[in-house]
Amino acid sequence: MAAIKNKDVVKRARTFAKPFCVTDGKKFKLKDFDPNETMGLEAEDKPRAKEALTSGVKVLAELQDMLYAQDNWGLLLVFQAMDAAGKDGAIKHVMSGVNPQGCQVFSFKGPSAEDLDHDYLWRCIRCLPNRGNIGIFNRSYYEETLVVRVHPEYLSRQKVPPSLITKRVWDERFEDIRCFERYLSRNGIKVVKFFLNVSKNEQKKRFLLRAERPEKNWKFSASDMAERGFWNDYQKAYEDMIRNTATPESPWYVVPADNKWFSRVVVAAAVIESLSELNLAYPKVDAKKLAEIAEAKKALLASK
Ligand code: ATP
Ligand code: MG
Repeated sequence: MAAIKNKDVVKRARTFAKPFCVTDGKKFKLKDFDPNETMGLEAEDKPRAKEALTSGVKVLAELQDMLYAQDNWGLLLVFQAMDAAGKDGAIKHVMSGVNPQGCQVFSFKGPSAEDLDHDYLWRCIRCLPNRGNIGIFNRSYYEETLVVRVHPEYLSRQKVPPSLITKRVWDERFEDIRCFERYLSRNGIKVVKFFLNVSKNEQKKRFLLRAERPEKNWKFSASDMAERGFWNDYQKAYEDMIRNTATPESPWYVVPADNKWFSRVVVAAAVIESLSELNLAYPKVDAKKLAEIAEAKKALLASK
């Protein structure tokens, strides 16, 4: 069983992860998830939340060590969100204790000419994690049901044969993504998805900080402002995406993102929960290997 000595942390992680986990999208409504939720914790509980994050990060590193040693499972963490929801910070904090050798992060921006010369999953498939590794997608193939849906002109630029683009295109994409993730999970690559759910008002505050603070100016982007104008379309697209692609094998976590300290705890908790569900263990060493080790130890002790 995974890290018995950390059973309490794993148990506590479950209490922070479960309320935000969607495994069956059919009844999902975004309005049931409050971006400002903190499970009763107040701003003065922040230091405790930070401590919880620190112990969570330690357990996560231990679980990753087992994942790497066992070399059977892979874990893909997909992050999606509106701009300034805190994807980068969540990834940085939560993965801070993890061995970089077993972790890969890829960011997906607008597709290149080479990307557009292929099917839309192509560029993501090339970045899937190896067994034993944690892969992180900062944005992903889900953009194909978000930005591309909100701006249909992107779809016409995709060089897909026009006869294949019908009004069923979004349902078809959802079906293909569900099948793709099921295929991965049947191969031992577990896909877990995060939607960092920030409110429109909190986004405004964060954009203003980017505009006002010189050290944050570099993050300010006019195109982020333009996308903010499509807020309601994005919310609808996110809701429909989660309704259609949350499954027991590949859940969505709808993470309240108005308080960064809380969203990081939830993301860490969800990663711990996902890893602990894999029942990881260090590979067992057989009798022959044990004898070899004993022999080597004897030789080492006898040597100068
Ligand atoms: P930040 O939070 O720092 O703004 P970011 O993830 O938004 O980070 P940007 O470089 O600002 O990174 O933006 C990447 C942009 O690429 C996003 O607006 C996203 O919607 C867009 N994008 C990603 N995938 C696709 C796609 N398949 N088609 C069109 N646009 C895409
Ligand atoms: Mg951006």
